[in-house]
Amino acid sequence: MKIIVATKNKNKVREITDVFSPLGFEVVSQTDAGIDIDVEETGDTFEKNALIKARAIALVCDDYVLADDSGLCVDALDGRPGVYSARYAGEGATDKDKYTKLLTELGDEKNRRAKFVTSMAFITPDGAEIITNGEVIGKITKEPAGDGGFGYDPVFYSDELEKTFGEATLEEKNTVSHRSRALKALYDILSGEEKE
Ligand code: IMP
Repeated sequence: MKIIVATKNKNKVREITDVFSPLGFEVVSQTDAGIDIDVEETGDTFEKNALIKARAIALVCDDYVLADDSGLCVDALDGRPGVYSARYAGEGATDKDKYTKLLTELGDEKNRRAKFVTSMAFITPDGAEIITNGEVIGKITKEPAGDGGFGYDPVFYSDELEKTFGEATLEEKNTVSHRSRALKALYDILSGEEKE
């Protein structure tokens, strides 16, 4: 069984391969499958955007399809940047531009609670759709710490790891991350291990 992953990000493909190979899936990136589609993420929720991406790929192949959409939701900003996390500092902005803008916008705000959220959309060859979600809670630091990871990792302090994602190893981050949790939830459903 082949599963096409709607991403060009090699790290995501590796993470998904680790989880899905034991279930008997051959995980193939959309690039390696020769599917050159760039859909516009027009949804106002992570779930809608994950579904938009997955459905676009499912239309042009007969395989299983998996797409995800993630972002950072900051309490004091009413959940922003949320689905706009990638575009928060404009097109072409660097990761540093994005988290610097976030620190500036938050300023001395005392409530620094935030969470990373992921929605995963899985579509079977006969069109059944499964959505799972994962999140990790923490707070936005006053300054960046660590240079690991990507995106907002240096300014996201994980309550569980007791350090920023930028200071964590990839293995540590994967034990608590929003993406790995959404993936685990999907694994549990597909392997019949879903909790009551
Ligand atoms: P995507 O939907 O996974 O591509 O994530 C959209 C944006 O959210 C990324 O461009 C990052 O800015 C941010 N983001 C998502 N996941 C993470 C993460 O694990 N660490 C840091 N930033 C993230």
